[in-house]
Amino acid sequence: MTVNKFLPITGSVMPRYAGVATLMRLPWIGLDDPDLHQVDIGLVGVPWDGGTTNRPGARHGPRQVRDISTMVRNVNRASGLAPFALCNCADMGDTPVNPVDLMDSLARIEAFYGQLCAANIAPLSVGGDHLVSLPILRALTKKGPIGMVHFDAHTDTWDRYFGDFKYTHGTPFRRAIEEGLLDPKRVVQIGIRGALYSDAEDTWGQEQGIRVIDIDEFHRMGVEAVVAEARRVVGDGATYVSFDVDALDPVYAPGTGTPEIGGMTTLEAQHLVRGLQGLHLVGGDVVEVSPPFDPSGSTALVGATLMFEILCVLADSVHRHKPQAA
Ligand code: MN
Ligand code: MN
Repeated sequence: MTVNKFLPITGSVMPRYAGVATLMRLPWIGLDDPDLHQVDIGLVGVPWDGGTTNRPGARHGPRQVRDISTMVRNVNRASGLAPFALCNCADMGDTPVNPVDLMDSLARIEAFYGQLCAANIAPLSVGGDHLVSLPILRALTKKGPIGMVHFDAHTDTWDRYFGDFKYTHGTPFRRAIEEGLLDPKRVVQIGIRGALYSDAEDTWGQEQGIRVIDIDEFHRMGVEAVVAEARRVVGDGATYVSFDVDALDPVYAPGTGTPEIGGMTTLEAQHLVRGLQGLHLVGGDVVEVSPPFDPSGSTALVGATLMFEILCVLADSVHRHKPQAA
């Protein structure tokens, strides 16, 4: 029997606080690695926050999440899912970025994910601000628009900024719908809240057919009904999961660019993500972890743990959709 090199280093060979930190202690596999074709799910950092309009720092998210993600273990106690047994997972490192050029960064990030997708590797990413989801979706949707389960305090479907500028972390999903990357009728946004600049500001997405479950409706419905509604909206088609940590209450995730009080709890978020098991998931991200606003490091732990929860349901989907050996 061959040794599976894609298992995390066990904590009884090297303690989990020791060694070089990789995402979830997985092997680091670069795009030029001869074993690239064996990878099913690539964990990726996107160290870039050039789309941030207010408090920056999410560019430092991947490194801190990589560090704290060494706390992750192998089996999800609640679901029994064991992602590293279902799929070959690897830390693919960080994407190339250009910290002083937004458009160049979008192109570099998209090119990186293009190579992953060409190698049939499903991406699970840690940002970075939320604009990084746009180049990821550009690379991921070459076969047509997909659905999305989007956790956030904000809809991120704004149009322009400072006149006519189209690309910020408040606009990725408007651009993604305009570009035909997302099918708005298969998009559900969960946890939306916070004050607006004007009362008509946030209606564009719903006019396109997005199902918005704001935090008040979330609490009226309860987690189980929200899960059922999210599953109804996205259906059986290919679906992406995007988790902005500001969906959580700032009590749980203070280290983020645009905190909004009155958010969901970490346990509610875990139950919601677990409820996505069985969908046709093709990738996901956790974004907006901003270490400079996270003095205790708790937000990075939340980000790493939610990344593991998404990995569990993603690995289950990727495993089920693997082409069967002839
Ligand atoms: Mn967002
Ligand atoms: Mn947000």
